[in-house]
Amino acid sequence: RAKETGRDHYAFFTERMDAEIRDKLAIQAQLRGAIARDEFEVHYQPQMCLRTGELLGAEALLRWDNPVLGKVPPNRFIPLAEEYGMVTAIGEWVLESVCAQIKLWHDEGLGDIKVAVNLSAGQFGHDNTVAFVEATLRRFGVAPANLGLEITEGTVMGDPDKAVAALKCLKDIGVSISLDDFGTGYSSLGYLKRFPIDVLKIDKSFVDDVTTNANDAAIALSVISLAHNLNLRVIAEGVETRAQVDFLAERGCDEMQGYYFSRPLAAPAFTALLRQPRKLFDQ
Ligand code: C2E
Ligand code: MG
Ligand code: MG
Ligand code: MG
Repeated sequence: RAKETGRDHYAFFTERMDAEIRDKLAIQAQLRGAIARDEFEVHYQPQMCLRTGELLGAEALLRWDNPVLGKVPPNRFIPLAEEYGMVTAIGEWVLESVCAQIKLWHDEGLGDIKVAVNLSAGQFGHDNTVAFVEATLRRFGVAPANLGLEITEGTVMGDPDKAVAALKCLKDIGVSISLDDFGTGYSSLGYLKRFPIDVLKIDKSFVDDVTTNANDAAIALSVISLAHNLNLRVIAEGVETRAQVDFLAERGCDEMQGYYFSRPLAAPAFTALLRQPRKLFDQ
């Protein structure tokens, strides 16, 4: 009996593994033509000033809607795109589409909005990243100050020296750099010392229970003072409640981003937001 149970378990696991592999292969197959079929779309999540309630900018978040697979979340397909060597092409598509959008907003007189784009590991292994960013800004007529880049420890881990050099070049031309998901990876403090960072993003996992859990509150507070002592700005991600807004604002957090204010929006909805007065919520 024990043997049979063991075999059932084994069958169950291999079935699960088969399903996982099939799933990955299906994503790989569909990813291949996704740019050509125009299946990607960038959404924009507002970033708000906690002191004034004003809209400061947005984070660009990629969306993929595929006719066979439906909507696939970026947490699922980005790591696979990295694995399959497709992430540079996707990352370049995102950067171009964001720059085109920034230019449209600028030309419409909606102001110079700063948009932060997530970079992935594969993109940094690429020698051309800096040249591509520069060329894209120039091609679309976008000022470097209107572009931010978000990195994680994972983005730069593969070749930290190369990443430091690339980020210094980007910072020199005026692009700002945020360290995303701060506190969740390894050796965050070492990265702070070596990398030319402008903004720290407090990870959502510390924000979730910040008003009820003493440890999360202590971590959030420490990150805020750490950032300010290093002359960095600090932004909290995944803010969902008014209590979190108040807590973070009282403790000097500079910016916030989260469902409390808005989910990531398709470009037309974000444009509508830009047409309103900039002060969008009351402190
Ligand atoms: P991230 O950069 O940390 O982005 C924040 C994620 O939290 C986004 O998920 C956003 O929609 C979500 N979020 C924001 N506020 C809230 C909130 O109040 N509550 C909850 N529950 N979630 C919130 P999303 O869009 O699914 O993206 C997931 C991750 O995928 C991103 O994490 C980023 O690492 C990656 N990603 C997204 N777009 C791109 C891209 O264009 N390039 C690269 N390389 N990675 C991307
Ligand atoms: Mg991010
Ligand atoms: Mg993040
Ligand atoms: Mg995160």
